[in-house]
Amino acid sequence: MPQINLLSPHVADLIAAGEVVERPASVIKELVENAFDAGAAHVTVEIQNGGATMIRVTDDGCGMAPEDAGIAFLRHATSKLRDERGLEAITTMGFRGEALAAISAVSRIELYTRRPEDAEGTRMTLEAGDIRDMEATGCPSGTSICVRDIFYNTPARLKFLKSDRSEASACIQAALRCALGRPEISVRFLRDGREEFFTPGDGRIDSCCYALLGRDLVSGLLPVHSEDEGLKLTGYISSPAAGRGNRSAQFFFVNGRFIRSQMLQTALEQAYKNTLLTGRYPACVICLEIRPGAVDVNVHPAKIEVKFSEERRIFNLLYQASVGTLSGEDSLKLRTVPEKAAPAAPAEDKPEEALPPQKPAPQAEYRVPAETAPLPPAEPKGQAVPVHAFAAERPDCVPARQQSLFASPAPEYQRENSLPPERETAEKAVEKPVQNVDISSAPEHKILGEAFKTYIITEVGEQLVLIDKHAAHERMNFDRLKSGRQPVMAQQLLSPQTLRLDLGQMALLEQHGELFAEFGFELEPFGEHELIIRAVPADIRPDDARAAIEEILEHLGSGGTPDPEAARDELLHTVACKAAIKAGWNTGPQERERIAEEVLSGRVKYCPHGRPVSVTVTRKDLDKLFKRIV
Ligand code: ADP
Ligand code: MG
Repeated sequence: MPQINLLSPHVADLIAAGEVVERPASVIKELVENAFDAGAAHVTVEIQNGGATMIRVTDDGCGMAPEDAGIAFLRHATSKLRDERGLEAITTMGFRGEALAAISAVSRIELYTRRPEDAEGTRMTLEAGDIRDMEATGCPSGTSICVRDIFYNTPARLKFLKSDRSEASACIQAALRCALGRPEISVRFLRDGREEFFTPGDGRIDSCCYALLGRDLVSGLLPVHSEDEGLKLTGYISSPAAGRGNRSAQFFFVNGRFIRSQMLQTALEQAYKNTLLTGRYPACVICLEIRPGAVDVNVHPAKIEVKFSEERRIFNLLYQASVGTLSGEDSLKLRTVPEKAAPAAPAEDKPEEALPPQKPAPQAEYRVPAETAPLPPAEPKGQAVPVHAFAAERPDCVPARQQSLFASPAPEYQRENSLPPERETAEKAVEKPVQNVDISSAPEHKILGEAFKTYIITEVGEQLVLIDKHAAHERMNFDRLKSGRQPVMAQQLLSPQTLRLDLGQMALLEQHGELFAEFGFELEPFGEHELIIRAVPADIRPDDARAAIEEILEHLGSGGTPDPEAARDELLHTVACKAAIKAGWNTGPQERERIAEEVLSGRVKYCPHGRPVSVTVTRKDLDKLFKRIV
């Protein structure tokens, strides 16, 4: 690496506002990027206590000469940019010369560095940005920067650090994003001495995908590849069946840099038009290679947003490539995925498809974290307790069958992989649901039948009202749960289930534990990544338990920290949705009647996601269609 210069104030001013060291994860991003810029082939990241007490990044890159190490921690000290012309075509991750200054200002640092050509290396310590010691020392070639006690001198910022688990999760994410952008570099991550992930540095994106996205998502990924004059696009996109509740699994990289881009997001999502349900989002790992002059990375302090000079062309490239991949879906599969057909459509509309069994983690090309404990036995502590046993113990807990709006088919569902039963049982069991206390003000109507096992057709005076039974029922459940008129019931699972979660999800669960408990979830962490599910709300079918928890966590995790009320609503949404009868299920006449009454009385207008629950066609509309009138 060339010598370090101090930028002129003029160039410094051209550079956007400085990075702020927000949390340990931002330190990791900067240090790993520096290691990448130094030409490292192997990078090791270590943290202790979520990075709060120690962060160390070690690389086998070019190292620094002693005189360079002496100024590397000064503001605007960089070897990557000399003058303003350099800003036009950035080829390195860093260029502002700010990160080491910002990090060292709020921590204690110990640096070891040696250039391969030098016989001796340099050891240097800093405190709050000031050099304390500097000496010649023997050390491996490359650089190791150890950051201790971040924010020790800024208590106000220290206070904002979240739990170790949350910070660790953010650190892992930050390192993974770096790793995924540069699959030719091997990255190892150790948390409190245990390996969290390892990428082999074999240049293949898919080797990193599993660590970043988790096995469930990876199994539904399809490769995309496209090239167009100076533009290259590679990566993976999810099959429509693997849609997610938010966009947190969309990763875009430009020249190895993780970025956010509304434009790329839109191009991707347009390709899924009409194949994904509304409210579901595709996952992706998209890597773009563009001539450095055609993208400006100097528009955002953390360089996480960029400006493309040829937006339209890039949009089209991604859109076309994705459409191409999705239309040829069957012929392509991620190479690490065992041959196993993904379900053809979202489970909601395909009740005949049982939940896919947990797929074994693909292990061929990459290392599974060493920390991964063996799965706990399927039935920890061998508890197989009939539901009624618990009901007897807890006077407030009656079996689901007696108290849910419609009779719960829970017992039938406990057969593994059974089809959702036809719900005739419900008819017998529609004993006075709570809402019946309300006086129905539904106008006189006749239920004519049901179309596509989805829409209830009613005749009301001179109108036909088509009702989306799932949407309406979801709303009814939501209102019932929200009003709190009924205590929430828990149902103990006959055999406790286990669920593997990432650290971020575990942290969310920790944060919202009381809320989950309030709704009847009985969840018990087992090791770092495993959760034992012992009870779920009575409204949820046991075989939906895992999916429900994952979905709630996904909603809670998207977009900042939800306030308690919003978090409650997220949970209610999911429980209401899971408890609702589904399109495609058989529905008995009494259930239809209940739903029609609620909708026609005007009490239920929109599903909790804001979609309408009914559509009205007047007689006049029909007469016009048939040209009886003009
Ligand atoms: P920038 O990356 O924007 O240049 P930094 O503050 O992150 O600014 O780093 C300052 C300088 O220190 C870099 O330009 C580089 O010369 C040197 N440096 C930092 N980290 C390393 C490393 N891991 N190996 C070699 N040199 C490094
Ligand atoms: Mg840097």
